[in-house]
Amino acid sequence: MKMKIYQDEPLLKHCSFKIGGNAEYVYYPETADELIGLIKKFNSEKQEYYVFGNASNVLFPDESLRKSVVFTTEMKDIRLVGNTIIAEAGVTLNTLSAFARDNVLTGLEFAYGIPGTVGGGVYMNAGAYGGQLSDIVINCRAIDSEGEICNLNATELRFGYRHSVLQEKKLILIDSTLNLKSGDKTTIIEQMDTYMSKRKGCQPLNFPSAGSVFKRPQNNYTGALIEKAGLKGMTVGGAMVSEKHAGFIINTGDATAKDVRELIDIIKARVFEQSGVMLECEVCIIENNKNRKL
Ligand SMILES: Cc1cc2nc3c(=O)[nH]c(=O)nc-3n(C[C@H](O)[C@H](O)[C@H](O)COP(=O)(O)OP(=O)(O)OC[C@H]3O[C@@H](n4cnc5c(N)ncnc54)[C@H](O)[C@@H]3O)c2cc1C
Repeated sequence: MKMKIYQDEPLLKHCSFKIGGNAEYVYYPETADELIGLIKKFNSEKQEYYVFGNASNVLFPDESLRKSVVFTTEMKDIRLVGNTIIAEAGVTLNTLSAFARDNVLTGLEFAYGIPGTVGGGVYMNAGAYGGQLSDIVINCRAIDSEGEICNLNATELRFGYRHSVLQEKKLILIDSTLNLKSGDKTTIIEQMDTYMSKRKGCQPLNFPSAGSVFKRPQNNYTGALIEKAGLKGMTVGGAMVSEKHAGFIINTGDATAKDVRELIDIIKARVFEQSGVMLECEVCIIENNKNRKL
């Protein structure tokens, strides 16, 4: 099948926040070769580009993004080799954990319900309920800035809290190998159900968002700090600090990226005033001139 390419595509259709202007070009490669071909083309044409998975940890700008955008969500190959799973960048973490469950492998229960992909998950070292991808990822294939394939083992991936080497170097993940253990199917299912119920109980899943906006500070909880600063329910335009989980900013319907950025600035200032803690953004804020690390 021919790779899907869209011109002047509204990015709000493609992200969990439902915010964003258009992108000049949006590409959906289906294979590693197509992805590599695109990166080589961008490099040779000196075109700037972004690569995203499910865009569940991203705030796109309100105005048009003057870069090409690649979504990996059509790269969905997933294979079992013994107790390891090899999954392409666009495999969702839900599909991945369900695949592990169906093959009676334990170690991925925590990822059930994280609305990202393998690519975004490794980039962020996504985690929940005491687990994170770095516990099980043993190897990744990535494309370097020259468009060449490189292999990275767990040490080379330089995982940390919501961090991997992909953030340090401009590396694009192609696929990832995850090492799991044989488990008990009933226990795996129960664990996944428990985590999913916890999510539904404490996260505002009926509103568009990008999950927790801030990284968790050491020895503290972001939601508690924001609540203590009296910011629960605070709004700027259509952006609101969730009443259900103060670590989330939700889009109540017509939020703009500007609203969200303003609310983030207010939260950071008030929490610092109140608790002396400087919050750091987990959400990737995309702007035309820079990637804003707030
Ligand atoms: C309701 C909700 C709940 C959430 N719960 C959690 C949670 O429990 N734990 C958690 O950790 N996160 C959580 N998140 C945040 C988000 O789902 C994770 O960070 C996820 O791993 C992001 O994956 P993605 O595919 O959506 O990445 P994207 O948002 O598409 O991208 C995020 C970053 O990764 C980069 N990236 C994406 N794909 C690639 C690739 N192939 N190669 C190189 N770089 C790439 C992008 O350039 C971007 O900088 C939640 C989000 C929502 C909306």
